[in-house]
Amino acid sequence: MQMVLTLLFVLMASQSYAEVCENKGPNVILFTWDGVRSDEFFKGTGLLHSHQLPRSERGKIFSSLWSKHAKEGMVLGGKDRYKIASSIAISLPSYQALMVGHATACKNNSCGALNEVSVLESVRSSLDLPKKDVAVFASWEGLSSAVAKDLNQITHGIYPGLLTDSTSDEQMSDIQKRAMEDLPKWKGSRKDKYTFELGMHYLKKHCPRVLYISLVDSDEFGHEGDYPNYVRTLRQYDEYLDHLIKTLREMGEYGRQTTLIVTTDHSRGAGPLWVGHANTPDSEKNVFLYAGGRGVKPTGRSKETGDHSNIRPTIEYLLGLRPTEKILPNISVD
Ligand SMILES: [Zn+2]
Repeated sequence: MQMVLTLLFVLMASQSYAEVCENKGPNVILFTWDGVRSDEFFKGTGLLHSHQLPRSERGKIFSSLWSKHAKEGMVLGGKDRYKIASSIAISLPSYQALMVGHATACKNNSCGALNEVSVLESVRSSLDLPKKDVAVFASWEGLSSAVAKDLNQITHGIYPGLLTDSTSDEQMSDIQKRAMEDLPKWKGSRKDKYTFELGMHYLKKHCPRVLYISLVDSDEFGHEGDYPNYVRTLRQYDEYLDHLIKTLREMGEYGRQTTLIVTTDHSRGAGPLWVGHANTPDSEKNVFLYAGGRGVKPTGRSKETGDHSNIRPTIEYLLGLRPTEKILPNISVD
């Protein structure tokens, strides 16, 4: 009897799960890590900073990405092959440009709200999606000025705002409460571990058509000149990515219909200038992009070029719309 009941429970649970996720169409997940330098992404820890790290923490950083996921997806960047879309390597200008598909007039982190609709708002209205199908979770408060012209158009859990609409539940409130009781030493953000927990809970419960998870600890440790914790944060991001991909694989048809795009908003200065964005002519605008899942050709590291302005049309294309601007290379759903 116990076994029959257990089986019945498993069947009911999987049925309700399938009902939530099935037949909604293709999905896109955007995952950004703030201020991650291409050096660490591609090569691992550098010689210059080696002495700051215990021997066991030197070397490759994004181990699971390079050993497991890169060859099944596509990686752009290195040299001048992949760039941000804003004219300046600062977070808010870069996130705004990524979200609208071209550089905006924003030149610093206090330029204020977006004054045109973002890709999140436009895909929601073009596809007539319920609000809960387009969601953003962000550690840094600045994302409020980048992800939407009108934040009421999307579901969002951006620090310090609390997600209070119908998609929230006890577990979400508990995560947000823990986050507010355990704030980082820098201002304007919650710790990434809570943002990631919020995003993953939302993903599994609501199976959104577009989900954006935005993390920031990396940039904050960078600005503090704390190389060991910067590197540890990047290794944590590698684990988060691995966990996200594994979760999508466990989500059946929803996972198979999902494309994942991972990138950063800007790189960092070279050598000792790594603590800042430096803004020397070009290096901090050269970044990386990883894409995997539905519609991504498994090219591994690609020599093709692109930039953040390709992300908006790529999201539109993957969701079945017809973008007029150029999409990322190696993407095709035919
Ligand atoms: Zn920064």
